[in-house]
Amino acid sequence: MESKQLFSRRCGDPGPMSWPFEGSAGPSPVPIRGYDAETIRPREGLAVPVTALVNYSYCPRYGYLRYVKRARTPLTREGVRAFFNHELFKRMLVNEFSVVSQFRSNMTAGEMAQLYHEEFYDVIGEMRGCVFGRLFGEMGLSWSQELQRLDRLLLEASLVWAEKLLRVADATGLEAFELARFLIPRRRAEVFYEASEIGVSGARVDVVEDGFPVEVKAGRAPVTGICEAHVLQLVWYSLVMEYAEGRDVDVAEVYYVNGFQRRRFGTDQGLRRWALGVRNMAFEAFQAERAPERGRCNRPCLLERECRQSL
Ligand code: SF4
Repeated sequence: MESKQLFSRRCGDPGPMSWPFEGSAGPSPVPIRGYDAETIRPREGLAVPVTALVNYSYCPRYGYLRYVKRARTPLTREGVRAFFNHELFKRMLVNEFSVVSQFRSNMTAGEMAQLYHEEFYDVIGEMRGCVFGRLFGEMGLSWSQELQRLDRLLLEASLVWAEKLLRVADATGLEAFELARFLIPRRRAEVFYEASEIGVSGARVDVVEDGFPVEVKAGRAPVTGICEAHVLQLVWYSLVMEYAEGRDVDVAEVYYVNGFQRRRFGTDQGLRRWALGVRNMAFEAFQAERAPERGRCNRPCLLERECRQSL
């Protein structure tokens, strides 16, 4: 996919930025491989988490309040639900091996979907024992009601995953064990990278699959393309992984849970240049004495109060 055609027009307002970021992207297009240190190294050794760059891209003032003024975002029910969905699907991606290994060539899509559905509930059981049992309690959410609400999504997801598996099995003629090896190339969850030298103090990649980053998003996929902020996040994950592991990471993927869309794109030179430009602009804003002016707020903002009070 050409990088200019990649961004979705339906996924929020890109804020004050637009493609391309003329004049802000550094002296020349620079791939991270080869490490042209003069271009890639941030001025004054500043380093922030990738999420700070993503927040800046949503709203420069939000990024400033969050990472310079250390404003805290309140926990909301919707936030906990989104966190839960995100965690659940991330764990399922990594756990898929246990379902695939039960595959039998005469299984129907319904039987296979049943296996996925049961696996979802096994994963949910584990999650309740971790932080989610407590979080649900704190937010006054009923565990059983939440699962009821979620079940339709899980049934739908189970069928989509089962049909995908059967299609692959049909096309390859593989049995369970080989299928698992074919379909689930090395998946690792929550891999943490640090690359202060290129301005990133932390990047927690949801899933690393076959050497490239996959970001799980709880929301529905845009009709076409990928949200600009998600592209930015993944390009930076690719850059950080390349830097940390010393190998090319030319592909990245967003997995939109609601709609079960996996969208893969190449982290080409244009996107790398753009991501460096956003970082440079964010660093300039973060080092300024005043918060950036209020922008257009086209979605509910968790820092609305701080924003009005600030400066
Ligand atoms: S209220 Fe609007 S301008 Fe203020 S931080 Fe939030 S999105 Fe940005």
